[in-house]
Amino acid sequence: MNKVKLSDRLQLLLDQVPEGSRLADIGSDHALLPVAAVESGKAVSAIAGEVNQGPYEAALKGVAEAGLGKQIAVRRGDGLEVLEPGEADCITIAGMGGSLIAAILGRGQALGKLEGVKTLALQPNVGEDILRRWLLNNGWVVTAEHILEEDGKIYEVLTAYPEGEAFGLTNEQLYLERVLPGGVICSPDMLLQMGPWLLEKPNAVFTAKWLGEIAKLEGILGSLSRSELESAEEKRSKIRAQIKKISEVLECLPKDKL
Ligand code: SAM
Repeated sequence: MNKVKLSDRLQLLLDQVPEGSRLADIGSDHALLPVAAVESGKAVSAIAGEVNQGPYEAALKGVAEAGLGKQIAVRRGDGLEVLEPGEADCITIAGMGGSLIAAILGRGQALGKLEGVKTLALQPNVGEDILRRWLLNNGWVVTAEHILEEDGKIYEVLTAYPEGEAFGLTNEQLYLERVLPGGVICSPDMLLQMGPWLLEKPNAVFTAKWLGEIAKLEGILGSLSRSELESAEEKRSKIRAQIKKISEVLECLPKDKL
């Protein structure tokens, strides 16, 4: 039987899953990730969670076609509701907005579903800063960040461990104001926005992402330019300040990455 071939995005997510995991993939759709995790031997067992009927059926089909019905349970339900506390030690959530991922984790944590979970590997499509803030405020430390481009889209993958089990790293250290090599001060807010690890090792995709964000902000400035309302002027100055901060950070990056 042919093994599942993952996209670079999902492969990067799978790379974050520790060997021997009991994995739960939430919003699994075709169950590609849990199938590949079990096929590769990285996960000893997996749960594929899906809230919607169509993707739930696609997950059932994917698992049956891979012949992995004994190792992978496909369950229909909202977020982490499909898990019993202690059942999984690694959770992956990919392909949703950062605020939806944060809401799923928040509801799950309140229900005790993150008990025993040692690793979160998350791929928000947008709103990475919202997710970083949730992790920071809920006792999770981001231990690695990756960024990649696939089919013209840019994706970030965040890996987090519970504070106290994050290889000695604390959130206080991670989000401490720091001076970038070019001398610009990077505030905790900027670290949350752009990513503390991505800023440490920026690559060309990171630069492309933030040049794109500047272009979007300039577009908003342009559309606000005709308004004489006081509130529009307030928005304009906030956006100008944001563009200035991002540009200063980009100017500090090693020149071969620009
Ligand atoms: N994780 C796969 C990937 O990254 O390729 C599929 C991503 S797909 C864009 C998002 C999936 O999340 C959809 O199949 C959707 O039904 C599911 N989803 C959205 N909200 C969910 C929730 N609250 N609980 C479980 N699944 C959810």
